[in-house]
Amino acid sequence: MATRLVEVQKLKKWFPIKGGVFSTTVASVRAVDEVSFFIDQGETLSLVGESGSGKTTTGRTMLKLLQPTSGKIIYKGKDISKLTPNQMRPLRRNMQIMFQDPYGSLNPRMPVGDIIREPLDVHSIGTRKERQQAVATMMETVGLRPEYERRYPHEFSGGQRQRIGVARAIIINPELLVLDEPISALDVSIQSQIINLLQELQQRLNLTYLFIAHDLAVVRHMSDRVAVMYLGKIVETADNDELFDHPFHPYTQALLSAVPVPDPDVKRERIILQGDVPSPINPPSGCHFRTRCPYAMPICKEQEPAMIEVAPGHTVACHLLTRK
Ligand code: SF4
Repeated sequence: MATRLVEVQKLKKWFPIKGGVFSTTVASVRAVDEVSFFIDQGETLSLVGESGSGKTTTGRTMLKLLQPTSGKIIYKGKDISKLTPNQMRPLRRNMQIMFQDPYGSLNPRMPVGDIIREPLDVHSIGTRKERQQAVATMMETVGLRPEYERRYPHEFSGGQRQRIGVARAIIINPELLVLDEPISALDVSIQSQIINLLQELQQRLNLTYLFIAHDLAVVRHMSDRVAVMYLGKIVETADNDELFDHPFHPYTQALLSAVPVPDPDVKRERIILQGDVPSPINPPSGCHFRTRCPYAMPICKEQEPAMIEVAPGHTVACHLLTRK
C-alpha cells in the first residue's frame, strides 16, 4: 500500500494589502484558497493551471517557505503548519525546491562546486572531505563533469545550469522535491533531457515530486496524478490517464483541448476561454470559474461547488454534477 508523505488540508495563503494612514488591511490577495491534496511516497503530483492560478504559492506554502494563513500541512503524519522556522530546520533537508530560472537561482559569484555543496554546509552534513566527495559524485550523477566544479554559472549552458540546480536540490537526499516550472526557461531541445534526468533520479532515489507546470504534454509524460488549479482553488484531481481521457470540469476540458493529439485520426475541438483570469483580490462569488464558463447557471453564482468523487480517485468541483 502507498505511504502518504504529505497532505495539505484546506490550505490558505492570503496576502494582505495594507492601506490608509494606519496601514490597516484593506483587502487580501487570495492566492491559495482552501486547497486540499496529498502526495504519496515516490509519486509525482502535477499542479496545472494558467499563470496566476496559485500553483507556485501552493508549492512554497506547502514547504513553509511562506507561512500559511490557515489550514494544515501534514508531513509524515505530523502537522507542521504551525512550526517555527527553528522547529522546521531539521525537516528542511527532507523538503527541497527547484526553481524555474536556472540562472537567477544560482549565485553568479560562487563556483558551482560551492553552490552544490552549500546545503551540506548549512545542515553540517559530513566532514569537509566527505562533502567534497559528495559534490563530485553528485555532479557525475546529474551528468556534469566533476572537474568543472571551480567554474562559475555563466560558463554553463541553460541545460547544464538546470542540472546544477538538480544537483543542489538532491545532494542532501531529500524525500520531497517541489519542481517549480523546472524546464520552462529551457530550449525545447534540452527540456526532455532534464525531464528524463528527473524521472531517472526519482526511480533511483525514491523521490516524491510536486511538479508545477503549464506544459500539459510534459505533465502527461511526467505525472502519476494531476490537480487542476483555477484562481486559488483546485477544481479537479485524478490519476494521469483518467484526467487526460475523461476530463470533467469545463476548465480542465478547455486546458486539455489545447494539447496536441498524437493520433492524426483523432480530432479534438479547441475550446477557447473568453476573458482573463479575474483578480484574486475580488474573485467571483460561488464558482470562481463562472465568469468564463460556457455552462454557467444561476446556482454557480450563489454557491461554491463542493468536491465530489466521480470515479475512484477522480474528484471534481462543479454544479453540473448535481444538476437534475
Ligand atoms: Fe461552470 Fe458552474 Fe461548473 Fe463552475 S460550477 S464550472 S460555472 S458549470
